[in-house]
Amino acid sequence: MKFKPKCSKSSLIEIETIVAISTPRGEGGIGVVRLSGPNAIAIGQRLFHSKSTLGQRIRHVEFGQIWVGGRAIDTGLAWVFSAPHSYTGEDLVEISCHGNMVVLESVVEESIRHGASTASPGEFTRRAFLNGRMDLLQAEAVVDLIQASSSASLDTAYGLASGRLSTMVRRLKGQVVKALSLLEIGLDFSEEDIDEIGRQEIQTLMRDVVASSCRLADTFEGTKRRIDGYLVALVGRPNVGKSTLLNVLLGEDRAIVSPIPGTTRDLVEGRTVWGGETLRLVDTAGIRSSEDPVEKEGIDRAARVVNEADLVFGIFDSSAEWCGDDLAVLELLPVQKSIAVFNKVDLPAVLDRTKVERRAVSSVEISALTEIGIENLKKEATGCWPRSRGVEGVEVTRQRHQECLYRVSESGAKADRLLLDKEPDECVVVELQEALNALGEMLGERTDEDVLDAVFSEFCIGK
Ligand code: GDP
Repeated sequence: MKFKPKCSKSSLIEIETIVAISTPRGEGGIGVVRLSGPNAIAIGQRLFHSKSTLGQRIRHVEFGQIWVGGRAIDTGLAWVFSAPHSYTGEDLVEISCHGNMVVLESVVEESIRHGASTASPGEFTRRAFLNGRMDLLQAEAVVDLIQASSSASLDTAYGLASGRLSTMVRRLKGQVVKALSLLEIGLDFSEEDIDEIGRQEIQTLMRDVVASSCRLADTFEGTKRRIDGYLVALVGRPNVGKSTLLNVLLGEDRAIVSPIPGTTRDLVEGRTVWGGETLRLVDTAGIRSSEDPVEKEGIDRAARVVNEADLVFGIFDSSAEWCGDDLAVLELLPVQKSIAVFNKVDLPAVLDRTKVERRAVSSVEISALTEIGIENLKKEATGCWPRSRGVEGVEVTRQRHQECLYRVSESGAKADRLLLDKEPDECVVVELQEALNALGEMLGERTDEDVLDAVFSEFCIGK
């Protein structure tokens, strides 16, 4: 199904503020007003006066004055891209001027007076998609590129935007199409079903499709973990300073800090960013032998969080004697993903650390109260995040992708089974076509308006 741009007759106009090197006084920045559509160049010419008239060449940039309400209000640059050689595939003009909102809004209002209408979120990219400048996977990656908060997310987004996932999906499509063509040759030219060699060839193709689509779909678990934020659990017996540490790490008062043991009975969670990675820090109930049912449930939850966590901070009070509850904490720590944190080093050292050291867990000394050693703790934690395993460096970033790929593998596996059982070719064709549909949906070749609305609702205005 082909779609037409929602308002193909009118031009689009957007304000976009982009990041630029600050002026020597540290003020300002550059703002960009973007116009796209059949009248973009005509409107651009009325707004922007330069030596060479805009639109004389396919792509060019001019220096000139920005005119609003009959007077020049700023100087700037106009970037002109004639259809189809632009981001949107339409005539596109980007006027960059000083990033003052009064200037930018005046330019927008003047454009509207000249016939443009305001764009909805993601409408430039939606047009780029509808005009065949990119597929849906690449359009989604535009949002990921803008929102990437870590270098790993940026790599993934760039991989998608530059079409690496699209290439893989097209390769899978090619294999299914080949399988279909082999079957259809059989259907067209004989009354009989396809011969054994043909069947085996299709089976080989489809087994490869099933394996590749499954591997690709499974990469979503790793991406999702990174996008949601890696989970860091803070565990320790009551009063060792878990809540104080959580508050310091989050830079806010999230957890109740109290000298009365057992104050954190439930989980307290907060998000933060370290070295570009998003983290979810969870303060758990203090681990201690207790008959109180509420406290017991809290401790059970703490154990579950430790299981789920990507990293565990096992916290010990270096100013107190080692006790049975510390041992319970130590036993809860998974060696491969834990750091022992000796807190309260601002006080005289009392704790016998040999038991922790024998467990071969790396350790850091801190004082959550005076913030000694906090940077060290962060440094130690960096690099402990699970490495996500992409397929040839490619990962999928949305549940939509994962669902489509699972549909592909399911249909592929069914087709394989049908071939094995020597079922009629027509039944196999149905499964292969379903696999093809799912791959087409992934690329946005056959996607209904609701899916597109959902995809583009993630965008901000101006993109
Ligand atoms: P939790 O029960 O493990 O969450 O412990 P809290 O964070 O509630 O802290 C228990 C008590 O220890 C509070 O009185 C804190 O002020 C105190 N405390 C926490 N960290 C330190 C520290 O590094 N040094 C000192 N001297 N006291 C601390």
